[in-house]
Amino acid sequence: MKVFKNFINGAWVEPSTGAYFENRNPADVNDVVGKFPLSNAEDVNRAVVSAKRGFDLWKRVPAPQRGDILRKVGDLMVSRKEEIADAMTREMGKPLTETRGDVQEGIDTAYYAAAEGRRLFGHTVPSELRNKWAMSYRRPIGVAGLICPFNFPMAIPTWKMFPALVCGNSVIFKPAEDVPHTGTLLVEILLEAGLPPEVIQLVHGTGEEVGAPLVEHPDVPLISFTGSTATGSLVGATCGRMHKRLSLEMGGKNAQIVLDDADLDLALEGALWGAFGTTGQRCTATSRLILQKGIHDNFLGMLVERVKAMKLGDGRKSGTDIGPLINDDARRKVEHYVDVGQADGADLLCGGRRPSESGLDDGYFYEPTIFARVEPTHRIAFEEIFGPVLSVIRVSTPEEAFQVNNSVKYGLSSSLYTRDVNVSFRALQELDNGITYINAPTIGAEAHLPFGGVKQTGNGHREGGWEVYEFYSETKVGYVDYSGVLQRAQIDTYLGTPD
Ligand code: NAD
Repeated sequence: MKVFKNFINGAWVEPSTGAYFENRNPADVNDVVGKFPLSNAEDVNRAVVSAKRGFDLWKRVPAPQRGDILRKVGDLMVSRKEEIADAMTREMGKPLTETRGDVQEGIDTAYYAAAEGRRLFGHTVPSELRNKWAMSYRRPIGVAGLICPFNFPMAIPTWKMFPALVCGNSVIFKPAEDVPHTGTLLVEILLEAGLPPEVIQLVHGTGEEVGAPLVEHPDVPLISFTGSTATGSLVGATCGRMHKRLSLEMGGKNAQIVLDDADLDLALEGALWGAFGTTGQRCTATSRLILQKGIHDNFLGMLVERVKAMKLGDGRKSGTDIGPLINDDARRKVEHYVDVGQADGADLLCGGRRPSESGLDDGYFYEPTIFARVEPTHRIAFEEIFGPVLSVIRVSTPEEAFQVNNSVKYGLSSSLYTRDVNVSFRALQELDNGITYINAPTIGAEAHLPFGGVKQTGNGHREGGWEVYEFYSETKVGYVDYSGVLQRAQIDTYLGTPD
């Protein structure tokens, strides 16, 4: 069995604990990908010491040169796209079409970052005094601790890592314990592209033994976390106490709204992809379907027929629509919510059980599940399930649909299907989400636009696009007074003084 290592202090090294965990294929648990380090705070401490040296060197490299390395990273990802997608499906489960898209998002993020190395704009503004310049510019911050979830094993680490690096920070990367192989491939590519070794550190292990010590380390001033709202609260409490800069991207309970005038065939494709793509394990997955009463019964009939025909299986086999859940805990959580939905009185229309077909017994598979007659007060209408379960809610008017959409504590994405341009723009204004799609599903973020949610989904920062570069850099202001006399701001500002 292949044994993988951490990358600390410029070398591939064993964990200080000497302990490892097994990474298994969720579609067939007999297939072991390899053993990965079960590291602890000692490994984190070593990584921080080295990353501080890496930061000292890297912050002096001109940003356009930093960007050039990211361009090479993008080129290498292009040449290894198929191999990475295959490795990702093997450890994460989603079909190859999706893992190819996950790698492509990393490639897009690399090329965007490469170009950003030539921008990183500050401002030059007129001073209120004569013969004086006033400007703002960006400085790197230090060692960035990046804590990632399992569902986008390549895209999410690159959303964090590439802007952090272009801004001149060094990075400690903690991948989710279910997807350590893809994280390892990413670090290999960064090194092959010429990133100075101490600028990147890779520490494998659990959230408690590696994630928490990284967040608590006093020499890591910057934390970017994507994961559940519960874990994000723990991370946020520590960062608040230690005055750290923190970006949180957390849970969602996203809704697709279909109004009576919608193109139903189009809305159907959107609902299938939004709810059951990635086995419902996307932060932007459609987990609520809000249907206006005129099309409710007809649309539900169309949907159930298509969902019953979806094919569960190994994501590396052609013809598979839906892969397994990530692990047994995730499947048990789905089973729990199916029980809760039934106990609350919702109608189970399809799914609601493990598949009975042969060949799926050794994976964490679960049938795509639809509940109808869900009330906004039912738990399956407002709690994140993170699996292939769709809750259907019936409404009378667009306004009621907006109100139901906004009634949950999360606010990542929403989607509206209608042919009415006025209602579309009203929705963009009224829906309390970071992203709203019109006539497209709740998923489909592009790398060059800001990504993130409102309310309990985030803490106001964004990943992707230009805004994330502000998170990974500190604004500094410089004044240059070339008058040769003391000029006092706010005091010597009257006309005629001095020349
Ligand atoms: P998770 O919270 O269980 O784990 C995320 C990461 O945090 C993992 O690397 C884990 O090891 C680490 N971690 C766990 N405990 C920790 C602690 N005490 N201190 C520091 N780190 C710790 O989440 P997950 O199951 O990997 O991912 C699913 C969740 O992520 C869902 O809630 C989903 O909505 C969310 N998500 C959000 C976005 C977004 O952009 N909003 C994107 C993807 C996933």
